[in-house]
Order: sequence, then structure tokens, then C-alpha cells
Amino acid sequence: MAARDRYSRKLECSHCGNTGFAEVSEEDTPSRKTRGFEIDALPSGFETEFASSNPRKHVIRCRCGHKFKFEQTTAYAPGGEPRA
Ligand SMILES: [Zn+2]
Repeated sequence: MAARDRYSRKLECSHCGNTGFAEVSEEDTPSRKTRGFEIDALPSGFETEFASSNPRKHVIRCRCGHKFKFEQTTAYAPGGEPRA
């Protein structure tokens, strides 16, 4: 089974306050070097500026022009990931 881990995460633009939930999937295989990060769906108003398999390098662009890295947002969905 090629299991992929799916989850959604809240995106929030610190510039204009636009928010939405992105649907994301990652490889569910800890031994892999890359997480196989992929965004399956972005909320309206957000686009991919620079795609990467690493969420810390994946850049999102808001409709207002503000750019930020996917895994840098300060607001997480309720019950989201623990802060490292
Ligand atoms: Zn914005």
C-alpha cells in the first residue's frame, strides 16, 4: 500500500488577513528522505509561487501579492501539528 498522509492546514496571510484551508498530502513513510509533500488543493485567493517537496521551501502567494513559505505560518488548524 502506497499510503499517503492527507491533511488540511490553515493558511493565513499576515498582510491582508486572507485565510483558507489547503489540502495537503505527504508520503507516510518515515524512512524516505523527502516527505513527498504536495498540495492537492489551495483555498481561493492563494496560489503556488514556488512548488517544492519540502513544505518549508514551498512558497505560497496570496492574492494581495504577499508571499510566504507554507510551513512558516503562525496559525495552525485546531488540533494541528505540535510546534517543533
Ligand atoms: Zn494577502
